[in-house]
Amino acid sequence: MAIKKTENITNWGNYPAIDAEVLAFQSVNEAREEISRCSKIIARGNGRCYGDASLQKTVIATKRWNKFIAFERQNGEIECESGVLLSEVIELIIPAGFFIVVTPGTKFVTVGGAIASDIHGKNHHVDGCFSEHVIFFTLLTENGEIKKCSRDENEDLFWATMGGMGLTGLILTARFKLKKIETAYIRNEAIQAKNLDEIFTLFDASESWTYNVAWLDCLQKGKNIGKSIMLRGEHARLDELPKKLKKHALNPKKKISFDIPFYFPSFALNPVTIKIFNWLFYHKQGKKHLKNFVDLESFFYPLDAIHNWNKIYGKKGFIQYQFVIPKHKGKEGMRQILETIAASGNGSFLVVLKLFGRNNPLAYNAFPFEGYTLALDFKVNNKLTALVATLDGIVEKYGGRIYRTKDAMSKPSLTSYLKNIDSPKFNSLQNERINSTL
Ligand SMILES: Cc1cc2nc3c(=O)[nH]c(=O)nc-3n(C[C@H](O)[C@H](O)[C@H](O)COP(=O)(O)OP(=O)(O)OC[C@H]3O[C@@H](n4cnc5c(N)ncnc54)[C@H](O)[C@@H]3O)c2cc1C
Repeated sequence: MAIKKTENITNWGNYPAIDAEVLAFQSVNEAREEISRCSKIIARGNGRCYGDASLQKTVIATKRWNKFIAFERQNGEIECESGVLLSEVIELIIPAGFFIVVTPGTKFVTVGGAIASDIHGKNHHVDGCFSEHVIFFTLLTENGEIKKCSRDENEDLFWATMGGMGLTGLILTARFKLKKIETAYIRNEAIQAKNLDEIFTLFDASESWTYNVAWLDCLQKGKNIGKSIMLRGEHARLDELPKKLKKHALNPKKKISFDIPFYFPSFALNPVTIKIFNWLFYHKQGKKHLKNFVDLESFFYPLDAIHNWNKIYGKKGFIQYQFVIPKHKGKEGMRQILETIAASGNGSFLVVLKLFGRNNPLAYNAFPFEGYTLALDFKVNNKLTALVATLDGIVEKYGGRIYRTKDAMSKPSLTSYLKNIDSPKFNSLQNERINSTL
């Protein structure tokens, strides 16, 4: 039975919020009929994008499509419906000695959402985006057909849908490859960097590591700009694990999670609280170069342990600003961006810096290209649009672009890189906003 509800919906940044008709279906036939009646519609997974990408007056909620279809251990492949969460996938596959090849910084995204955003992880320079590991998916198109899309069947639609932000149709099921692991631990190194010169040198020196990313203190100024911690890691082999972890190598103890029960008042997050957090974060490791073993979930999804952490930014919400600029202009561009943010005083707790590897030209809608990418949160306040406009100007000057799945208000020319996605039916508020001001 189809369920129809009018709800106030919003994505992870709680900005913007809209009233929408939310449709949930048991069967594909029901969905097909309803889609044929609508003039505009967009798919919605778990609402873990930040801005308006999965918002429309009518949306299809996919979370009821949460069945596994196949898990083939011999060749490490999994097939499931598009509403299955990555958290459900890893719960099934880790004890069997597998992990997802490309995962974002939260496990609470659906498989459909992962394909539509063509997500990247800490290993982009080694394993590319999620699309690299997808074998096929099925797509319900605007004229009601179900198309199987792979590298050699409906190839055009396959690549347009990867990173296509739901604008080519509704992904119904997908099959993708997994990575074999011996343990559920990462051999981790955390290295303090005093400034941009040090962290850029560390990125160069860490290219042979599978996973690397830096956490950065965005409110530092002058010679301390770029003060950060490089986090790099490799899947730990069984023979390298300390004895006490070996016993439950594929079943580490579950971590306790916390819940933020209410929106924080708007004054709670300010330059002073951010500075205190950053100081504690930088010094918590107690030495310049720390080596240890951490379980997969703590390494990949540290924020997932605090449910609803988005409420820390208060009722007005926040945006996430993520851009990439070409590698050869990386340090200069990053310095200018960080100077602008520090001067504004509007900054976030967790700022993530990463060096992307080369992109796959076939996956033309994917966000990453070879260069430096920075992701940070900004609280929504009356100075934000001016700050974003200034930052967009710098990103544009350096030949960069903005990640669509996190965009809420950037200059449309920085997010208009999608191709072959024009469907009169599948259209998000984000896509309309971008197209109307181009
Ligand atoms: C804490 C946090 C950390 C993150 N870290 C990263 C990261 O490291 N790397 C990264 O790349 N991203 C990251 N993201 C972004 C996130 O991975 C993407 O926004 C992802 O697409 C969200 O999936 P979802 O299921 O919640 O989809 P939604 O947010 O509901 O939708 C996102 C897009 O996917 C489309 N979509 C969803 N389901 C379908 C479907 N079945 N068929 C067609 N289209 C569909 C929607 O229309 C929309 O355009 C992060 C987000 C958060 C909150």
